[in-house]
Amino acid sequence: MKIILLGAPGAGKGTQAEVICERLSIPAISTGTIIREALKSGTEMGRKAKSYMEAGQLVPDEIVIGIIEERLAKGDCENGFILDGFPRTIVQAEALDKMGFPIDKVIDIEVTDEDIVARISGRRVCDNCGAIYHVRYKPSKVEGVCDKCGGTLSQRKDDQPETVKERLKVYHEQTEPLKEYYQKQGKLFIVEGEEHIADTTRKTLAILEEAQS
Ligand code: ADP
Ligand code: ZN
Repeated sequence: MKIILLGAPGAGKGTQAEVICERLSIPAISTGTIIREALKSGTEMGRKAKSYMEAGQLVPDEIVIGIIEERLAKGDCENGFILDGFPRTIVQAEALDKMGFPIDKVIDIEVTDEDIVARISGRRVCDNCGAIYHVRYKPSKVEGVCDKCGGTLSQRKDDQPETVKERLKVYHEQTEPLKEYYQKQGKLFIVEGEEHIADTTRKTLAILEEAQS
């Protein structure tokens, strides 16, 4: 199955992607994670993306479209995949449609702006392996230490309050129109994000188990 996860920054796409990845044994592909890795290893693409990302802006379409094209060409995507954070603009969605990987379902996780700000302020990321935690909703066993690899947890630069406001603005202007785009294709499913992650997950899995129309 080929799945897209839509939703505002911090709506919980990454967590849902992890669950689906395990359940269906298909790779979860996060453009944000790929870009952060490129940034860390200092590639040219990483350098180009840095200033946009840190300002809460979208990285230019041609860069992320290139990233996705390259990633979807790998063998592990043959049986399906989950896209987390792509597409984020109509131009990206149209490019994806042209790549020849017909998408089955688009799951939009809806969370109010107010809740987004609260969630993102508590988000922590492992400096070493990229695992994501939340001080309240998904705490690590030992504060500040990654359960998976023992790495140090820190707050992303773009998770600071001012940048979050900018990211929400960008989301409403450029990404939200994708709901209508996929609604018209008959692929859109809406999940109300719940305070408890397990409740959101239950709804997501129910949608995936529905017979394909
Ligand atoms: P979140 O979903 O919490 O916003 P991501 O890790 O998905 O976090 O994205 C972080 C940043 O990476 C974005 O703010 C943007 O700068 C860049 N980015 C990720 N995916 C895309 C995309 N599809 N198009 C443009 N920029 C992207
Ligand atoms: Zn880790």
